[in-house]
Amino acid sequence: MENIVVLGSTGSIGRNTLDVISKIGGYRLIGLSFHKNSELALQQIEKFKPEFVCCSETVDIEPLKRVSPGTRFLKGREGLIELSSLKSADIFVNALVGTSGLMPTYTILNNSKKLALANKESLVIAGKLFNALSREKKAEIIPLDSEHSAIYQCLENRDIEDVYSLILTASGGPFLGREDFSGITVEDALKHPNWSMGTKITIDSATMMNKGFEIIEARWLFNIEARKISVLIHRESIVHSAVEFIDGSIMAQLAIHDMRIPIAYALTKPKRAALGMRLSLEEIGKLHFEKPDLDRFPTIRFAYEALEKENRNLGLVLTAADEVAVDAFLRRKIAFKDIFTILERSIRLFENELKEDIFEIEKETEYIKEQVGLLIEKEFSGGV
Ligand code: NDP
Ligand code: MG
Repeated sequence: MENIVVLGSTGSIGRNTLDVISKIGGYRLIGLSFHKNSELALQQIEKFKPEFVCCSETVDIEPLKRVSPGTRFLKGREGLIELSSLKSADIFVNALVGTSGLMPTYTILNNSKKLALANKESLVIAGKLFNALSREKKAEIIPLDSEHSAIYQCLENRDIEDVYSLILTASGGPFLGREDFSGITVEDALKHPNWSMGTKITIDSATMMNKGFEIIEARWLFNIEARKISVLIHRESIVHSAVEFIDGSIMAQLAIHDMRIPIAYALTKPKRAALGMRLSLEEIGKLHFEKPDLDRFPTIRFAYEALEKENRNLGLVLTAADEVAVDAFLRRKIAFKDIFTILERSIRLFENELKEDIFEIEKETEYIKEQVGLLIEKEFSGGV
């Protein structure tokens, strides 16, 4: 029996993780965190009776205590760090969204614990630091993101010297064939063709900033140069990513699009769990691949630029600016296409330097979020 802590248990990845834990057995959920969704958290606490629960400061914990009197409740940022420091945990799942995942990632790695990581923002903001920390502390980072899980499975401890390129596949989101991004509503942008995910990542998939983040994530997860990472549009989301080796062979991982497959693999690897999911290639018949259009989706270019100018840590700038811009779009304060403008303005505007200290990195992230918020208030108005 392994002890597991799930951060962000009420989110899309969090819910899928709890479902996997229930299905495969062998894991005891000793801690979970949520932000505000007390209704769902109550059901999870009642079912799993975790020893620790963390939530935001504003949540009324009395009803939660009643369903699990043995549980200790923690709150806010400090509580999340305490939960991320649990000595009795064997594995942590970081399924927090956005910059809230940064300090937990740092804490878990710093304590030499195994981390199943969904929160890609951690690696986009502080990939260099976390890559070094994970080696120094011998704390393994196992990817949950479907593309990175696919690559991880294809690599299976093979020598990175034998890799010619990593091929990240992308569905292209709901606007792949669309020429003009004017008039796109929040509802249009939330209709992802293949995946059901949290709202932030769904909008990031529509702008393809998500794929940009995944390029940076891959650079640090696999410690590979940016020029060896490519993006391929693959509408059907069946090939979750691939690795091209120097002898000309390509290995890929194929499965139906269900996040429980990469989640289960992160927990059970190198063994596999019987999830009862099947992919019928016969029914699929054909798979399609094409090059992405970087003029219509400059977000992919922004990511390569960030890796080229590593010393400026534009990954941090992109993550912070994107979080604020997506939130403004969801609140209908800006138009969809403004997200691209705000991202580009931000990477031209902020002349920051790569920092090695996590507290400085966090401070800088908060500063840029605040500045982008002011920029939006001053210069952008009018959603759809
Ligand atoms: P969701 O928005 O569905 O869930 C986010 C979770 O984090 C919820 O439990 C939420 O709590 C909690 N949370 C939100 N804000 C805060 C905060 N400020 N402090 C503490 N906790 C907070 O996100 P997803 O599950 O979609 O994504 C999680 C991460 O996984 C992201 O980094 C995403 O990019 C990545 N990812 C997601 C995939 C997917 O299929 N969804 C695929 C690959 C990667 P509450 O619900 O109580 O408000
Ligand atoms: Mg992904």
